[in-house]
Amino acid sequence: MVIIAGKDKGKRGKVRQSLPDESRVVVEGVNMVKRHMRPRGTARQAGIIEREAPIHVSDVMLLCSKCNRPTRVGIRFVGDGSKVRVCRRCGEMID
Ligand SMILES: [Zn+2]
Repeated sequence: MVIIAGKDKGKRGKVRQSLPDESRVVVEGVNMVKRHMRPRGTARQAGIIEREAPIHVSDVMLLCSKCNRPTRVGIRFVGDGSKVRVCRRCGEMID
């Protein structure tokens, strides 16, 4: 994924988690926020930790591994009638 809006514009990363209900995704290393953790028991580490916050899907674009450019996803039907996702730029399959 490549980030096309916001403070992390231009950054690239893998999708770590997708939240379809909120139309948001968590992208590795993007939109880092600091969280203050309170010590709770002995298992949790206290202090400030950084973690990714979800960003809206309209702020990211899929990065095609074939043409190495941000792209929209197209749908193509293959021989047996199943759908595959393809890059709208170069037409290659996206997995
Ligand atoms: Zn492509």
